[in-house]
Amino acid sequence: MRHILQICTGAWDESNYTIEAIIERVRVISAKISVDKEIIGWSIDKSLYQKVGDFLHGQGIQMLLWLPCFSEIGGIAQPDETVDVFGQSIIVPLAQPGEDFAFCCPSSPRNIQIVESLYEEHFADCGFDGVFLDKVRGQSFVAGVPGVLSCGCERCQKAFLERGVDLEGVRNLYEEKGDAFFDMRSYPPGGEFELVEPVAQRFFEAKEEIVASAVWELCDFFRNKGLEVGLDLFAPLVSRFVGQNYALITKRADFIKPMLYRRTEAPAGIGYEYELFEKHAPAARKPAAPAMDRAFMDTQLEAVGQASCERYPGIEINYLKDIARTDPGYVRESLAEVKEFGFEGVALCWNVMEAPEGHIEAIADLA
Ligand SMILES: [Zn+2]
Repeated sequence: MRHILQICTGAWDESNYTIEAIIERVRVISAKISVDKEIIGWSIDKSLYQKVGDFLHGQGIQMLLWLPCFSEIGGIAQPDETVDVFGQSIIVPLAQPGEDFAFCCPSSPRNIQIVESLYEEHFADCGFDGVFLDKVRGQSFVAGVPGVLSCGCERCQKAFLERGVDLEGVRNLYEEKGDAFFDMRSYPPGGEFELVEPVAQRFFEAKEEIVASAVWELCDFFRNKGLEVGLDLFAPLVSRFVGQNYALITKRADFIKPMLYRRTEAPAGIGYEYELFEKHAPAARKPAAPAMDRAFMDTQLEAVGQASCERYPGIEINYLKDIARTDPGYVRESLAEVKEFGFEGVALCWNVMEAPEGHIEAIADLA
């Protein structure tokens, strides 16, 4: 089985680990398992990538830049922000330095331009073999219903209208129905839910189209430079809420890393995101929260399997007391499931620098 390692260096102006520590970590792990690619970012310290890149390339490992697209860029540029369909700014309760979780508008050409310029200015000469595009989505229930009912800016109103969706109708429907806006006609674990209200349903479909078309543009930009392009995706169960349709968004990508995070109590954690749906639309007709067990993992892997590019399901192997209480048994279980499905490989997320020894051993046992 092939492995992708993910290393989180911190925010743009941070560099949480020394070059030596990163190289040593990769050396130890790659002696035990076969490593294909390392995703690293998004510090703007070029010397970090030049030296780490030399080491990786000497080992036959590709280096990919971890690049956030529709969030985090507010920390280094002034993107066009999102508003909700009510025209209000979206309040993000979790904002903290280095992790702002605020999102910017997916249909703004300026925002796409900012991502491209960031690459050109800070990373183009660092020896990257590819880019790993993160935050290629809209806001989730992390910012409540307004987060999910976005973006409602003038550009997006037009983009929705071109797809047959009048945001005024969406707004009126939510005001009339409240939680029942989210009543589910069907909600398979694979995620492609169908809402009872056609206007609500069409809103989510159009949002997926808008997000996908922005992502395609970014994919084209990087692929034209000869770079491999990977995408960070929400797990299928919760991806539709944030505008990620696996069949659409993956069209011009080389690989995807679905975040199959069953132990993460933070944004993108599957149970965490579903609980927020329950919290913000308590009266909506919907299935009970699924148990985050092996059987559930199978439903997610089955849905991921439909994507036509390479698939590296992502599992958390870092341990963080408050938000990712992983253990070797969990890592082993997740890996065994991925292996059973016969995918190209697995991504060890989201920061191998914080993975305990026992977790690495569990991976080596199954490799
Ligand atoms: Zn917008």
